[in-house]
Amino acid sequence: MVIKTFNAFLLFLLSFNSFAFTLNTNFAAAFPGEEVVVNLATHDCDNLPYTNDEILSMASEGVNKFWNRVPTSKLKIRRGNHTSVSNDFESGPLCTSNTNGCTANPALSGQTQILMSCNTNSSNFSSNGVLAVTANVNTSGDNIVGSVILLNNRAGSGLANLSRESFISVLAHEIGHAIGLGHSPVTDSLMYFSNIANRVSLGEDDMDGITYLYPREQPTSCGSVAYIQDDYRGGKPIASLLLVIGLVIVALKSKGKALLS
Ligand SMILES: [Zn+2]
Repeated sequence: MVIKTFNAFLLFLLSFNSFAFTLNTNFAAAFPGEEVVVNLATHDCDNLPYTNDEILSMASEGVNKFWNRVPTSKLKIRRGNHTSVSNDFESGPLCTSNTNGCTANPALSGQTQILMSCNTNSSNFSSNGVLAVTANVNTSGDNIVGSVILLNNRAGSGLANLSRESFISVLAHEIGHAIGLGHSPVTDSLMYFSNIANRVSLGEDDMDGITYLYPREQPTSCGSVAYIQDDYRGGKPIASLLLVIGLVIVALKSKGKALLS
């Protein structure tokens, strides 16, 4: 009876606990490996108060401060290199159409991994307050092959007025999009749509989102669980424990369907 009550309570909790994170694509695209590299285009970011090397270092700081410290995620994001790319990355649009989502500019869509690039195209930045735009420009099936982050390098860019810590948070937010996450409506999330000053850590939504896309596999052949109950009789507690596990799995599967629908 105790265990049945616990089952019901667990289901109650699960049914009222909902995901608030969203995904950047409607097919839950994610990088297929466990490591992704962030590169930076070599042209100057002349309207921003940082050198290219400083921007790449801040991206590295951002992923180590936020995304690389989620124990339930297998993904590790690494600092890459200064990368020479075509002028389209400096002055071209990210999307050729925004009807039904971003149709990536074909000139940018051959990228692999994550490429950041300073950009001055007005169609990307409708105002100085649009700090950066990101798209998963290169996908294959439900895998992300490459993502592009364009940083607002127009005169008067709001990026130029941010504190160093906020700049790092913006880069980390855009890298969140680059690995497949959308916006969260929860203000304590890094993936909240608006930049919040002095953010120091991921929110619960961010951790749920990266874990959903990049779950760390659990060991299958080691560890054990002991079931201890004073009135153990005839294996019923074990059966009930298995029922709890089954209900959790069923509940989690049904939550996943709701998320993607
Ligand atoms: Zn965003």
